[in-house]
Amino acid sequence: MRDAWILSIGTELTLGQTVDTNAPWLARELAALGLRCAEMRTISDDLEPITRSIRAACEAERVILITGGLGPTDDDLTRNAIAVAAEVDLELCPRSLDALRAFFAARGRDMPDRNQVQAMIPRGATAIDNTCGTAPGIHTRLSGADIFAMPGVPYEMKTMFHRDVAPALRAFGGGAVLLSRIVRTCGLPEATLGRKIATLMTRGRNPEVGTTASLSEIGVRINATAPSREQAATMLDQTEAEIRNRLGDIVYGRDDDTLAGAVGGLLRARSATLALAESCTGGLIGELMTDIAGSSEYFLGGVISYANSAKRDLLGVRPETLDQHGAVSEQSAIEMAIGARKALGADFALSVTGIAGPGGGSTEKPVGLVYIGIANPTAAIAREYHLGFDSPRDVIRQRAARVALNELRRHLLRDQAK
Ligand code: ATP
Ligand code: MG
Repeated sequence: MRDAWILSIGTELTLGQTVDTNAPWLARELAALGLRCAEMRTISDDLEPITRSIRAACEAERVILITGGLGPTDDDLTRNAIAVAAEVDLELCPRSLDALRAFFAARGRDMPDRNQVQAMIPRGATAIDNTCGTAPGIHTRLSGADIFAMPGVPYEMKTMFHRDVAPALRAFGGGAVLLSRIVRTCGLPEATLGRKIATLMTRGRNPEVGTTASLSEIGVRINATAPSREQAATMLDQTEAEIRNRLGDIVYGRDDDTLAGAVGGLLRARSATLALAESCTGGLIGELMTDIAGSSEYFLGGVISYANSAKRDLLGVRPETLDQHGAVSEQSAIEMAIGARKALGADFALSVTGIAGPGGGSTEKPVGLVYIGIANPTAAIAREYHLGFDSPRDVIRQRAARVALNELRRHLLRDQAK
């Protein structure tokens, strides 16, 4: 299989003024065509670095997709860079010049002289029609590599890609298809999880398996390459089954599934309701729960009990508890959960109290210390977590929300098993 490189050209990109959306979009399109993007580069509007990257990309028989730098101004240098890399001159493409003139004529304008440069392409290259803008694209072969240069404007680039580039690439993919899936997990550190599926993660395996960690969750990515969609899908199913088998109930779903959605599904299955008592997460869990359409079926609401007075007055946390153990304690988490369950008349309640930092930590109670409480119809428990003494506040809060939802998810699973 030929691999691909994507080069995004534009000083607005390298200065961080515009976010490159073209490269990720193209990478996903390439995957659907059975081509794997191996490298992405973002390059300023300067001839030398653009030429250097084109030369590097051409070292193997790659597919090279370039976006941007095809405009009519002096800082648009993609066509020049391709010409320099190929050691040829630019020459006028009469068909593109006609198309440019027609573009302006259709808008009742004469073509400005400086736009003529857009009809110049490296000798030996073919122009690709631009049906919605001025800059034609360029296709050329260089040392066995195929270069496709497209406009930077996302809408023009996408139109050109679908109309002319994708059909040409289909042949290069060898008819292969690359399908991907993400198995979603929460509850094990990445290294431990990695050990359990190490034999699936060997390099060169197909399907390829890798992990991505973010905010207490780990996604296990599976990429399968096969001659047909059906075969690739079967391979994904088999590897997913093997991963689930090895990881057990830390797996909560796949692809777009969320922890809140998994919790919602478990609550719905038993017609149970949920209430929240959030301190350090300040409503984040409520937001995650209500992100799901139809959550009113099982989610009753919550109390953002940030101040001690709110914990006391709205949730009935005892003043002695707050005095003796503090607001961030196992005992407070338990009483918050019991209080929320009672206040909202829910079957289950989930509570969170912790120290999100950056201030407010101490030796006994460091930043990142979080207690998660759960109250069910017969009992209440709480668990202590350490979510990173040196992590930023927002990261600790986001982790706490996910860890809490996962704690509840596993509680509901265990409860169900009884
Ligand atoms: P073209 O080759 O189509 O003429 P250009 O580089 O000459 O492109 P610019 O004026 O630099 O045109 O860019 C056109 C618009 O497209 C700008 O708004 C720019 O920010 C946007 N753009 C260019 N490249 C990208 C990219 N990789 N991702 C997202 N937006 C982009
Ligand atoms: Mg540009």
